[in-house]
Amino acid sequence: MNKHLAVLEKERIATYCVCCGSTDLQKSPAILMPFIAHRVFDWQPIEITDDWGLKTIKNGMAYALCNALQCNNCQLLFLDIRFTEREMNKLYTGYREADYVTLRENYEPGYQKRNDLLNAGIDYLADIERFLTPYLTLPLAMLDWGGDTGKNTPFKNQATVFHIYDISDKPVIAEAKSIDKLIARNTHYDLIICSNVLEHIPYPAEVILDIKQSMSQDTVLYIEVPCEEIIKTASTTSVLCQKKKHWHEHINFYTEQSLIELLSKTGFSILELRLLEKNSTDAVYMLACQLTVA
Ligand SMILES: [Zn+2]
Repeated sequence: MNKHLAVLEKERIATYCVCCGSTDLQKSPAILMPFIAHRVFDWQPIEITDDWGLKTIKNGMAYALCNALQCNNCQLLFLDIRFTEREMNKLYTGYREADYVTLRENYEPGYQKRNDLLNAGIDYLADIERFLTPYLTLPLAMLDWGGDTGKNTPFKNQATVFHIYDISDKPVIAEAKSIDKLIARNTHYDLIICSNVLEHIPYPAEVILDIKQSMSQDTVLYIEVPCEEIIKTASTTSVLCQKKKHWHEHINFYTEQSLIELLSKTGFSILELRLLEKNSTDAVYMLACQLTVA
């Protein structure tokens, strides 16, 4: 394992790639979207005017600055700011609940309506189940890591054990049981799901290594992350960090290569990696993997 990933040296501002550990990065200035800057750091945008009396600064709106980084080895595109655990809690405790929605609607008018759509649930569960079926024998003992309420978990009607581990601590659906890491480590699972989590996480290898402790040789791990528009439409010559001007909740934009690097460096063998086009605009990477046999 690359030395940075092996010790998981945590940085305020990243100097190495969080998927492959490379320090060969390109960078380009960008802004942290005001909703995130406000919720995490309590920083609000401000207008610089003549009243400030500054001689070397132009007037205009000032927003929180950051850099977009791009790894030259695996092409991961990511935000240079790496949030601490405390900052992650500020962002994700009460996720998409009243305070979150009110603040976000204030900065991003129309968010409330979008949130109602998001809460309606995902419509491609059948695609995920078809993707995983060749690697599983039903019924399943299963854990959804970051599974929220469990509403969007595949195979939820074919599980003998359905555990959810999630920092948001929301009440879970009737079929599921909310558990802590200790229970997760002492339960045998056929399938562990980590869906739409790793794009939010400052150190994805840390989550993967945590999940690994609840896996046996025969456990299948399913990982799903968005294939963001900028990645999907990139040409081989694009310098993506120059195009990525704003950062929101998704702080890691994965490429196929970055997922392959992240999993091989944390001791996994990939069974299958596939791009699923959910509709004309949204796509996800679906990945099934197992522990590498020593
Ligand atoms: Zn990399």
